[in-house]
Amino acid sequence: MQPYASRVVQVRPEIERIAPYVPGESLEAFSQRTGIPIDRLIKLNSNENPYGPIPPVLAALGRYVSYNNYPDTDSTALRRALAEFTGLAERYIVLSHGSNELINLLWHVFLSVGDNIICCPPTFTLYTTVTTLCGAYVIEVPRTESYDLDVEAILSALTPETKLIVLCSPNNPTGNLVAQEDIRRLLETGRIVVVDEAYVEFSQQPRGVAHLVPEYPNLVVLRSFSKWAGLAGLRIGYGLFPEWIASYLRRAQCPFEVNVAGHIAAIETLAHLDCVWERVQLLIQERERLFQVLAAQPYLAPVPSQGNFIMARVCDEEITVEDIRASVESYGILLRYFQHPYLQNVLRVTVGLPEHTDLLARALAEVRPGRAKRSTNSAG
Ligand SMILES: *Cc1c(COP(=O)(O)O)cnc(C)c1O
Repeated sequence: MQPYASRVVQVRPEIERIAPYVPGESLEAFSQRTGIPIDRLIKLNSNENPYGPIPPVLAALGRYVSYNNYPDTDSTALRRALAEFTGLAERYIVLSHGSNELINLLWHVFLSVGDNIICCPPTFTLYTTVTTLCGAYVIEVPRTESYDLDVEAILSALTPETKLIVLCSPNNPTGNLVAQEDIRRLLETGRIVVVDEAYVEFSQQPRGVAHLVPEYPNLVVLRSFSKWAGLAGLRIGYGLFPEWIASYLRRAQCPFEVNVAGHIAAIETLAHLDCVWERVQLLIQERERLFQVLAAQPYLAPVPSQGNFIMARVCDEEITVEDIRASVESYGILLRYFQHPYLQNVLRVTVGLPEHTDLLARALAEVRPGRAKRSTNSAG
């Protein structure tokens, strides 16, 4: 029998349309499924930073004692540090509990039922989930064969209800940057152009397009400490906004949303940038080595990446992602596997430590056609 309330009150109709966001599998779930103990697993499926937070962050979190007090809602100290880091004044900066939460907030501030956003798949799917939650729609304008934006197609897809044009740069999962002239052309539409720069610190343009924010009333840049700074578990992100948008976001945001630990970790990170950049540099070097390892497999076609991950297409008709998965998982390695219209037979590997690349190379060397079927049979 249904609980009483659900027969009287229904959820909003758009909630029925939400496909749940599927994140990379957790260590716990993978361990349970495969029987391999957690401490032997190598997690290369969520673009996390294998070096973790820098030591001064851990020390500061341990030294702090006033966790009983609410955080500073204005995040004065962190916004000051971010102003120095980004070169933009504090009034442009809004913090959040991870940049995902900033997507949630920004979308709710702009999207009414019946509005739409433009997205360029393959890309991050959270943009779609949150749009649906708002009762709005996604107009998909697929990327070209080289995964670049099709600017002409975006311009002709605009409708009067289009509020946001969402770009991810470097794009997850393809790894390429959006060209600055494309961003400028799209800004001319007057729609809010959102550039998600969660991985920009690993790219050849680590400052991204932040410097354009004061120039345009409709450019938003989203950033995160999750990837380059290794703080994914603490949930701390920020955005660079035109002042008018920043003030609406602050009004709409829940008080004390950004927790004290996130503040401390971000401030310490920005106070020891040399140490963080050194690790980012190691990951960039390892990315090039990982690319060689993937390219050396006759059945894989990796795509050059500016993020801390590499996407690869399976280019051998005899081998499926499931065959690769069977071999890789037997080594306790977690990767991301995609199987949907824009990403058929594609996998994504997070750049890990050198020993992670070595072990992955061994697992990939053992991939054989039909392996998935055989291991299913033996398990059954
Ligand atoms: C990882 C990621 C983020 C970061 O989200 P947080 O909430 O800050 O951890 C944002 N956008 C994209 C495309 C990502 O892949």
